[in-house]
Amino acid sequence: MWIDLHHTRQPGKLVQLTVEYGGKPRPAPMAPWSGGFSWAKTPSGAHRIATTCQGEGADIWWPCKDHVSDEPRNMGLHFRVPSDLVVATNGQLLKTEPHGDGTTTYHWYISNPINIYNVSFNAAPYRLIEDRMASVAGDTFPVVFYVLPEDYDKGVELFSEIKDHLRFYEELLGPYPFRADKYGVVQTPHLGMEHQSIIAYGAKFNNGSMTGGIDWGFDALHHHELAHEWWGNLATNSDWRDMWLHEGFGSYMQPLYAERLKGREVYKSYMRNMRRFSNTLAIAPRESMTSKEIYRAPIYVKGAWVLHSLRYLIGEEAFFKALRRMAYPDPSLEVQTDGGQTRFVTTDDFLTICEEASGQSLDWFFEVYLRQPALPELFSRIDGNKIHLHWKTPNNLPFPMPVEVELGKEVKRYDIPPEGLTITFEKGVKPVVDPEGWLLYEIGRK
Ligand SMILES: [Zn+2]
Repeated sequence: MWIDLHHTRQPGKLVQLTVEYGGKPRPAPMAPWSGGFSWAKTPSGAHRIATTCQGEGADIWWPCKDHVSDEPRNMGLHFRVPSDLVVATNGQLLKTEPHGDGTTTYHWYISNPINIYNVSFNAAPYRLIEDRMASVAGDTFPVVFYVLPEDYDKGVELFSEIKDHLRFYEELLGPYPFRADKYGVVQTPHLGMEHQSIIAYGAKFNNGSMTGGIDWGFDALHHHELAHEWWGNLATNSDWRDMWLHEGFGSYMQPLYAERLKGREVYKSYMRNMRRFSNTLAIAPRESMTSKEIYRAPIYVKGAWVLHSLRYLIGEEAFFKALRRMAYPDPSLEVQTDGGQTRFVTTDDFLTICEEASGQSLDWFFEVYLRQPALPELFSRIDGNKIHLHWKTPNNLPFPMPVEVELGKEVKRYDIPPEGLTITFEKGVKPVVDPEGWLLYEIGRK
């Protein structure tokens, strides 16, 4: 779209534009993966409406500058609907305006910068479940669940878990970023989406909706979408090539929560379960990508596994410090609620943060795991009472990844030089390589 400004304008001067538009929004072919408007019915036959547009961009339903590297600083949203419907959307509700003709306009305002694909519209005869929560930042913020009347009791039950999830993230990563507006969850016909301050929830109160039917003891779909308030909405990839910062980080939070609830063994089986999927994609390529191009399973599962292996490499203290610094690089940002806390991020930003937190040089780790499609191969060969280990990487890239080996009752971490390492063990011992399952690799075969 080109706009003729009629006469010369000085740089830095604000120009106000009004764009009038209208039309019939496209129905979503398969929300949320193929977006648009979803027109659905509640069990009792009332209308319920929802939007999704992560893959296509928000320009499928309103005029906007459709690139992830730019965000509106704030937004007013006005929806006129039949008066028996309740509108739930991003930001804060300023007022409702009944028109006396059976319709009502909802006036909403988003006070923080927002990824445009996160702007959403949901309407149904919702009931509200509400509370206020105390943040680790010292202030309080509203928490609201917009639930279908038929599911009210289930909603009340999930609401207390929603608050547990919020507490977990606040302790791990720092304050919930959009306290100036609210934390909202809305029941939707589609599975889920990370719509800022109004998370779309369509898991039907089934803990296994996102995990192939496995119940890990919590609602993984809600937990995942809430992760995006930090990984995606607070810290946003400035190009979709870095989308693993949203989805890989977001996916790693569920095994961390499983570990918090049930211990290290459950964490490890959650990680093993994720390892079944393909990992052959350069999940942080150097060339620019659209969200449709990069959106494939490895940005989730390989991304989560890269973080798992990074945790092993740099250790608990440095790893969790780096996670928190990636969310909030400076503690002074944790108390900001005017939008100054949000920022754009790249994979290299995370590299810098990890190097600072660990005091280690980690370029080799990022290069092999994130920039290459193929995984490193670990070759191990037993010869009498010796085991020989060596790494093979795409293009022979350096990969000084230490490997743990269990020899009898002892587990030791060995540095592997480029030419490989030979370890001698006692008779009767059966060596186990990487016994705790920390490393992301393929088993090397000749
Ligand atoms: Zn996600």
